[in-house]
Amino acid sequence: MDPLTVANTLAGLLATANALFDTVRDLKKSKVDPITAAAIAKVEGQVNDFQETILRLRGLVLEQQDRIAQLQAENAQLRAENTTLSRAAAARQGVEDQRKMYTEKRVGRATVLVREGSEDSYYCPSCFETKDKAIPLQGSTGGMRRLYSYRCPGCRATF
Ligand SMILES: [Zn+2]
Repeated sequence: MDPLTVANTLAGLLATANALFDTVRDLKKSKVDPITAAAIAKVEGQVNDFQETILRLRGLVLEQQDRIAQLQAENAQLRAENTTLSRAAAARQGVEDQRKMYTEKRVGRATVLVREGSEDSYYCPSCFETKDKAIPLQGSTGGMRRLYSYRCPGCRATF
């Protein structure tokens, strides 16, 4: 039985108990013999016990509802954290997979990176290490050829 049905059932029982209480109160006003009066007093005690039990049960149900709400909130938070961590792990895996496709290559006195399958294009090892980006190196032109062969447009390093 779900908590709402339990709460509604208890509310119905409490209404019945309260009606019984009113009936007993009316009976106590009437003039009756001592034996009947004793019987009415006994019923009054039983009705009071009935009301108290229902109220206690209602308290327990409210506690359980609070606990369920708390667990649902915790569950939502954990799901959100799980999603964030899964995305981060997938992104990290993507970077790792990407890294595996590049290897170092000696070009003259410089060490550059080449991509698997296209060894003629060179990439900056520094940017790859620090920014997780494969930045293609630019060949030097004109008088700069005497100073360096390649230049990284990202970090301006020369090779
Ligand atoms: Zn660079």
